[in-house]
Amino acid sequence: FRERKLIVHIIPFENRRQILVTHDVTESERIDMMRRDFIANASHELRTPLTVINGFLEIASMQPDMEVSIRSSHLKLMSEQGERMQRLVEDMLTLSRLESMEYSVHHEAIDMHGMLVQILQEGEALSAGRHQLSLQYDGPDILGSADEIRSAFLNLLTNAIRYTPEKGKITLIWENCPLGPKFIVQDDGIGISAEHISRLTERFYRVDKSRSRETQGTGLGLAIVKHVLLRHKAHLLIESTPNVGSKFCVQFPANVILLN
Ligand code: ADP
Repeated sequence: FRERKLIVHIIPFENRRQILVTHDVTESERIDMMRRDFIANASHELRTPLTVINGFLEIASMQPDMEVSIRSSHLKLMSEQGERMQRLVEDMLTLSRLESMEYSVHHEAIDMHGMLVQILQEGEALSAGRHQLSLQYDGPDILGSADEIRSAFLNLLTNAIRYTPEKGKITLIWENCPLGPKFIVQDDGIGISAEHISRLTERFYRVDKSRSRETQGTGLGLAIVKHVLLRHKAHLLIESTPNVGSKFCVQFPANVILLN
């Protein structure tokens, strides 16, 4: 039983009678709270890189004769922080676009083999030889939004690369099962302990904030994945064991299969 909050309006009616109008504001208050939390978190995330940039600018203005090597190291740090802000703003825009579009997905035929090979190549570029990446392909082509699905799958692969130490193994699997097509990203990385798993798709939720920052995470990747999957009526299942690895599994419904 969840406590509900009702607002009751008493409206005078004819012959000294009154009408009672009740509004259940439980849901709208919950959404309001989420929005406030999001703004507070986003402001905090943007404030940190801004503080760093402003700090270095102040140093530069106070020390016009700064050594060239120090100046260039400051410039490098400032540009990293600028890039971090850009990633954050881009992820926030993606999330808000996905939310505002509700459930109107632009369905198109997706060549899954082509898409997955491209995702694998992008993963290889990101890993730069530090991991062993592979693809097991045995599933059908599907109908959906190619851009959205590509970005969701790439987010899952990027996370596997971020949270798997060097020489780790990362496998992408595309297969069909009785429930429908399934995409799996499996890694033998740092893993996640059970108490965090149900909260991973919350915006800005991270198991280890400093590690996420170090690896250029915005904390919004899995929130974006969740929205894309919701729009495609797909589910995300997460299995993970600390220090053993993680398995992120996307289960699509059978009716997305493209019949040739
Ligand atoms: P981030 O940008 O921080 O990676 P995400 O929303 O993509 O944000 O992921 C949320 C958190 O989930 C991460 O900060 C990390 O703690 C955890 N996580 C996601 N994928 C993995 C993975 N493959 N292995 C271990 N931890 C993961």
